[in-house]
Amino acid sequence: MGCAGAKRIVLLGPPGAGKGTQAERLARHLNLPLIVTGDLLRAAVREGTPLGQKAKAYMDRGELVPHELVVALIREALERIDGEKGFLLDGFPRNLEQAQALEAITPIDVALLIDVPREEVVRRLSARRVCERCGRVYNLLTQPPQRDEICDACGAKLVQRSDDTPEVVAKRFDVQYNQDAQPLIESYRRKGLLLTVDGMGSVEEVFARIIRALEERCAGS
Ligand code: AMP
Repeated sequence: MGCAGAKRIVLLGPPGAGKGTQAERLARHLNLPLIVTGDLLRAAVREGTPLGQKAKAYMDRGELVPHELVVALIREALERIDGEKGFLLDGFPRNLEQAQALEAITPIDVALLIDVPREEVVRRLSARRVCERCGRVYNLLTQPPQRDEICDACGAKLVQRSDDTPEVVAKRFDVQYNQDAQPLIESYRRKGLLLTVDGMGSVEEVFARIIRALEERCAGS
């Protein structure tokens, strides 16, 4: 089966909405290539490419990497895949300027918004812990380690990211998401491309909602 009308999908939602988790499942389910800007940037930094060297300082400060750099990265990633087959984008576009740049490269069929209220974002991200040695990610509420604050994989201590404290999370939500992403969401709404899914509940529940929403849209198109 599959809907011919929803192959080029961008995922939207605040930090902590579960975009990454749902993106992986959805890409597998729909058999679409998944492009994650955060992962591409981290790989570029690790490999020390010219782009990675330029992007690193911004990423370390939790700021957006300059427009030209991310657009070049996305353009390259989209050129590598078969556009006809479709794609799933996670982490791009993050603002209107990036959406316009994307539009110049390729049309999209659906902007899928995973909607989670501010209080829940603060609750989820404040409970996130990472292993200081191997980087594995836990959540004290939903994916706790077996032993308190100790990594299951390597036994090292779990720590909180400096930008995951309740105050900073609230600020990231207000500045990065409300300020930058709301105009983007509105613009997709006006174009009739926005599909909003409630992001509260378990990973399975949210995934089922996403599939249902895409199918309903497909049936209606
Ligand atoms: P993420 O893994 O999506 O949280 O991204 C990690 C970091 O990569 C962000 O804090 C930004 O510095 C950078 N980044 C990811 N996607 C973008 C984007 N679309 N535009 C600019 N910077 C980005």
